[in-house]
Amino acid sequence: MGSKRFDDVRDFHRHGERIAVFCLRCRRYAEVDAGPLILRPATINRHPSALPWRCSRCRATGKDILVGYDARMQSHRAVP
Ligand SMILES: [Zn+2]
Repeated sequence: MGSKRFDDVRDFHRHGERIAVFCLRCRRYAEVDAGPLILRPATINRHPSALPWRCSRCRATGKDILVGYDARMQSHRAVP
């Protein structure tokens, strides 16, 4: 793999990488722009998987939300 580091939300924004999020409950998949997240002191230094995500469709939280690599795998599985 490459040498890019993705330790926190700021790294994702620096590399122009969107954050993949997948909801296990309703199977909604989204790729979130890290831009708005780095404006918030509470989220800029945290890894995306450590953020308190909530599904915008079914309101699921916690273990129902996959982030990053795991979310992408789920999205690929859904596409024929
Ligand atoms: Zn959901």
